[in-house]
Amino acid sequence: MLVLLAVSCQEKADKNPLLSKFDTPYQTPPFDKIKHEHYMPALDSAISVARHEIDAIVNNTEEPTFENTIEALDRSGKLLADVSNILFNLNEAETDSVLQQIVIEASPKLTDFSNDINLNPELFKRVKEVWEKRDSLTLTAEQQMLLDKTYKGFVSNGANLSEADKEKYRAISRELSELTVKFNQNVLAETNSYKLHITNEADLAGLPQSLIDAAAYTAKQKGLEGWVITLDYPMYGPFMKYADNRELRKQLYMAYGNRCFKGNEYDNQKIAQRIANLRLELANLLGYPNFATFVLENRMAETPERVNQFLDQLVAASLPTAREEVKEVEEFARQQGFKGKLERWDWSYYSEKLKNAKYSYNEEELKLYFQLEKVIDGVFLLANKLYGLTFLPNGKIPVYHPDVKAYEVYDGSGRFMSVLYLDFFPREGKSGGAWMTSFRSQYRENGKDIRPIVSIVTNFTKPTDKQPSLLTFYEFSTFLHEFGHALHGMLTDCNYSSLSGTSVYRDFVELPSQIMENFAVEKEYLDLFAVHYQTGEKIPQELVQKIIDSRNFQAGYFSLRQLGFGILDMAWHTITKPVTEDVDSFEKKVLNPLDVLPPVKGTNMSVTFGHIFEGGYAAGYYGYKWAEVLDADAFELFKEKGIFNREVAQSFRENILSRGGSEHPMTLYKRFRGQEPTIDALLKRSGLKK
Ligand SMILES: [Zn+2]
Repeated sequence: MLVLLAVSCQEKADKNPLLSKFDTPYQTPPFDKIKHEHYMPALDSAISVARHEIDAIVNNTEEPTFENTIEALDRSGKLLADVSNILFNLNEAETDSVLQQIVIEASPKLTDFSNDINLNPELFKRVKEVWEKRDSLTLTAEQQMLLDKTYKGFVSNGANLSEADKEKYRAISRELSELTVKFNQNVLAETNSYKLHITNEADLAGLPQSLIDAAAYTAKQKGLEGWVITLDYPMYGPFMKYADNRELRKQLYMAYGNRCFKGNEYDNQKIAQRIANLRLELANLLGYPNFATFVLENRMAETPERVNQFLDQLVAASLPTAREEVKEVEEFARQQGFKGKLERWDWSYYSEKLKNAKYSYNEEELKLYFQLEKVIDGVFLLANKLYGLTFLPNGKIPVYHPDVKAYEVYDGSGRFMSVLYLDFFPREGKSGGAWMTSFRSQYRENGKDIRPIVSIVTNFTKPTDKQPSLLTFYEFSTFLHEFGHALHGMLTDCNYSSLSGTSVYRDFVELPSQIMENFAVEKEYLDLFAVHYQTGEKIPQELVQKIIDSRNFQAGYFSLRQLGFGILDMAWHTITKPVTEDVDSFEKKVLNPLDVLPPVKGTNMSVTFGHIFEGGYAAGYYGYKWAEVLDADAFELFKEKGIFNREVAQSFRENILSRGGSEHPMTLYKRFRGQEPTIDALLKRSGLKK
């Protein structure tokens, strides 16, 4: 069987570069040879190879062992991973309508394949047998993690349930997926159906020209005179900050806050309640007291109690400062002639003016210190100072677009670590934003270390014929952030691809990225490369201080706001009985203790809280703050010992960056830091504690 398969692959391989051994440096994808028509046949072949690999595991007549079942599963599907990584990565970075169509065609095939594995009772039987004898096996910590992850992956998909319960599980999952889609559609419909139509030019007072232009363009698109403001955040946010007309701010605020809360066909109150109750049912079916306990089992934070304690601690630390910040804005507003009670639709408006009065700096002036070429050198230099890494451009490595540059990455001992692609500029066919991704994960097979292929994709300001690419400070921080993810991917030193690199618990994955952002405001570091692109002058200290001060502006208020989202999320997902009270009173009970501004009747947050009701952040919103606490706490050690201290860096590499998900993140973290993280460093960094 396997011999025949190999032969047929060989035949196709002559024509299809995706199916032959990549004859390139480091076996990188042969982008120059891959054509659209190669994807589907390659994917079909790769799926069939993977199916045979799975069948071989299931049909093994030997008793299930860690090696012949758990390890074999991790080893399976490598060809499929190669092909689908190329397809999906290019669909984000360099796509066109044909490639998009291929993805649409490919996705159900891949879903079917993974369902066939996850729901394969014979396969699960073998996995379970290994799991049940785990205490008698001599496994390394990494092997224990792999066994645990594999087993729990099956169980969380309902593999361990009786036939009757499996049916229930499927029914709940089906209803949940319908409801979450409906939830999202309602938010979209309500966001899109509203428009603030302005016909009197005086009502534009205070707005920046870019927003006025966008509003005029939107009006034109809708066939209207004048200007139209929508509820899309890029319009809503600036309007609330800058519009002098208070009545219009109120109108827009109300329109935003009562989306999906008006009792019309797009109302999400019943849906949100039903989603929360169904998730409880699902968790109960799987043997958990509530949904959060189920989710957090695979998180660094581990339990709802710990998350709640964490959030409460931060609330206590943020609330007094937030109250002072509100007072400061109120006083400032009075100085500006404001009378009456400061409402929520006044908050951004006066805050923005106060921030400008206190910490304004010129973004354009700042950009002159961040020329892209110098920033690249600076980022590489940081990796060199910390980890001894060197980056060697290699023009022989094929790339998928002429803008992309490929590097070989070596560590201080000369060991080859990774291939790294950098792809900076926007173009048609590239998605917005910035991300790190991999074309191949790292793993070991028969003693051979397969090194990863990592990529950073961004949409930075392009150079012109008059000016080089000058990055905004935000773009520079973004680069450091994604580069941190890339280090996690490149310095990984694991045995199993499902645990290597960034394959870690979700509330741990932002530590390597966010810790890098701390360097962005370290003068000692900036002085090494952040020089004026024309005069060569170093970035002035006052400018750096203004960045820090403006970033920490209203730290208490913003912290509280994030915490509010996290607390509301936890409240919905720690219910142990179905919620029967209405969504609004449920929400108000949870959030009232955090209010520093007067509540507004007729508005509700839960009904548009897509992160938790529609997306994958259920019982996970706390993760944003958790990651901040981690990166501040970890960077504190660098601050203490020197930001380029090699010993600290070496320990961060050994205990965090190289270890992927091979052990529990708290274990890894404690090994680096000597103790569990505390909130102190974050409070200090954000100015909440002196
Ligand atoms: Zn990130």
